[in-house]
Amino acid sequence: MCEPQGAKARSVLISGASIAGPALAYWLDRYGFDVTVVERADAIRSGGYPIDVRGTAIDVVERMGVLPHLRSAHIDTRRLTFPDADGHPIATIVPEQLAGGVTGRHIELPRGELTSVLYGLTRDREVRYRFNDGIDALHDDGAGVDVRFRRGAVQRFDIVIGADGLHSNTRALVFGPEAPFNRYLGFCFNLFSLPNDLGLTHEAVLYAEPGRAAGVYAVGDSHTVLAFLNFVTDEPPFHSYADVDQQRRLTAEIFSHGGWEVPRLVAAMLRADDLFFDTVSQIHMPRWSSGRVALAGDAAHAPSFLSGQGTSLALVGAYVLAGELAAHADPVDAFASYERIARPFMEANQALALSKGGSLLMPRTQQELEARNAALAAMQVSKKAPSRAEHSSQVHNSLRLPDYTRWLHEDHRT
Ligand SMILES: Cc1cc2nc3c(=O)[nH]c(=O)nc-3n(C[C@H](O)[C@H](O)[C@H](O)COP(=O)(O)OP(=O)(O)OC[C@H]3O[C@@H](n4cnc5c(N)ncnc54)[C@H](O)[C@@H]3O)c2cc1C
Repeated sequence: MCEPQGAKARSVLISGASIAGPALAYWLDRYGFDVTVVERADAIRSGGYPIDVRGTAIDVVERMGVLPHLRSAHIDTRRLTFPDADGHPIATIVPEQLAGGVTGRHIELPRGELTSVLYGLTRDREVRYRFNDGIDALHDDGAGVDVRFRRGAVQRFDIVIGADGLHSNTRALVFGPEAPFNRYLGFCFNLFSLPNDLGLTHEAVLYAEPGRAAGVYAVGDSHTVLAFLNFVTDEPPFHSYADVDQQRRLTAEIFSHGGWEVPRLVAAMLRADDLFFDTVSQIHMPRWSSGRVALAGDAAHAPSFLSGQGTSLALVGAYVLAGELAAHADPVDAFASYERIARPFMEANQALALSKGGSLLMPRTQQELEARNAALAAMQVSKKAPSRAEHSSQVHNSLRLPDYTRWLHEDHRT
C-alpha cells in the first residue's frame, strides 16, 4: 500500500448502471475518483424481479448508509407453496427454509428499487451518467484507456470497469466471446408479468414437472404478479436470444401440455410485452482484469439466480474493487488485490447454485420430482431448513470486509 490515492482525481469509466456499476461509482466517488457511468438503457430501470441483499452485502449497504431505507422496502415474502398438477398443495414453507438466512441479515426487494437507491446516492454527488450509450471500442496503451462511445464521442480514462452484466460487452471487447466463460446450467427461463387474478399476496407458488417448472411470484400486495416458465434443454438455444417470437414459440411448444395453471401462463407469456428470456448460466473467468480494464458483478462472476446471490456478490465486489483502487497507485496491483480478497467468496457463493437450488426448483426427472416433493413435505412438517440452508448462510456471510475508511476523500468523511 502507498499514499492515499483518493486525492488524485484518477478518471474511471464504468459500463453498466444496475447494481455493481452504481455501487462502485458511489465508493470511487467517495475516494475522490472522477467517475463516469455509461448505460445502454435510456434511464435507470425501475421495477423488476425481487433480488436479495444478504450476509456480507448487508455490511456493505450499512456502510453506504442505506440499510434503513432498504429495510423499509423489504418485500416480506411469507410463504412458498408447491402445488401438484391439480393445484393441491404438496407443501407450504417459508422462504428461509429454502435459501437459508440469518435474521436481520437478509432483505428482499425489487431490483429496480435497489438500483434507484444506488443511483440516487451517486446522482447527488459528482458522478456523471451517460444514458443510451455504450463502449464501442477501447484501447489500453498501458498508461490509460482510449474509449470510443457508441454515439461517437472519444475520451481517455485512467481505468475502465465492465459492470455490464452476464452478457458483458466490456468482457467481449477485452477477453473475447462469452462462450468459454459461460457455464450453462442446463435450463432456460422466461419471466413476464400478468394481472394478479389469483389474489396472491406476499407469496410465491412454484409448480414443477420433470424438466419444466412454472410459477408466480406476488411481490407484496401488487396488482400484478411475476410469472416464470423454465425448461431444461441440453443445448442452450443461444440463437433465440435476439428473436422474441422464436422465444415465445419455443416456450409454448415445450409447455404445450401441463397441469396447474400452465395453460393460462403460456397464454399470458404469448401476450406479454415485458418477456425476459435467457439461459441460466454462470460466468467463470480465470482473471477478472487485463491491464487497466477490470470486470465487476455478473460480468465477472455471475452465480445465476439459483444461488440468489447475484446482487449481494455485485455489492461486495464493488466495495472491495473501489477500496483496492483507492489503496493502490497502480490499477494492476489494485485489480490483483481485489481478486485475491474477493475471489474465494465469489466462488464459494457460485458453488451454492450447483449444490442446492437445482433439483428443488427444477427437478429434471420423475425420480428427482418425487424426491423433491418428499423433501418439501418433510420441511413443512419440521418447519426447519435442511442443513444445506445452514451451510448457505455461512457462505453468504463468509467474507470479512476490509476497512477502507482511511482512503475516504476528506470532503466525504461524513
Ligand atoms: C430472472 C432473474 C432472477 C434473479 N433473481 C435474483 C434473486 O432472487 N436474488 C438475487 O440476488 N439475484 C437475482 N438475480 C441476479 C441479479 O439480478 C444479478 O446478479 C445482479 O443484478 C447483478 O448486477 P450487475 O450490476 O452485475 O449486472 P446487471 O444487473 O445485469 O446490470 C448490467 C447493466 O449493464 C447494462 N448494460 C448491458 N450491456 C451494456 C452495454 N453494452 N453498454 C452499457 N450498459 C450495458 C444493463 O442495461 C444493466 O443496467 C436474478 C437475475 C435474473 C436474470
